[in-house]
Amino acid sequence: MPKVIGFNYTLTNSNNEVLDTSSEHGPLLFLEGVGQIIPGLEEKVIGMAVGEKAKIDVAAADAYGNKNDELVIKVQKSQFPADAQLNIGDVFQVNQDQGLPPFTIVELQGEEVTLDGNHPLAGQDLTFDIEITEVREATDEEVAHGHAHGVGGLQH
Ligand code: ZN
Repeated sequence: MPKVIGFNYTLTNSNNEVLDTSSEHGPLLFLEGVGQIIPGLEEKVIGMAVGEKAKIDVAAADAYGNKNDELVIKVQKSQFPADAQLNIGDVFQVNQDQGLPPFTIVELQGEEVTLDGNHPLAGQDLTFDIEITEVREATDEEVAHGHAHGVGGLQH
């Protein structure tokens, strides 16, 4: 049976900026082996014991991937609905049926809108300061669903 692992974390980038921390929402719980967390983190966390702490560096390629220039595209404002409010930082889904990622508006210049479909953390080397809070056997239901249940996992 795969394991469910919970951990507290503080995520920083290479400039030492805190990007996310579990102190705001409690430990994260994940089911091992299904890609619920980024691969570079999962391979280090598996096998750690409750209470164990570690500082884990994950290179961009093993985190959210390197930046893909092909996902940065320029479109015309006229391609948006006439009443659309366009602001830098807005995120929207272009064509869900084609499996495209959500795109973020990164630049507005005249009639031209620059969209970026990369994950916001793409291209960034990340550091996770973690402490294991829970290790247990996964339930049949969690394995069937492909994710962890309970506080810090999916609650449904
Ligand atoms: Zn479920």
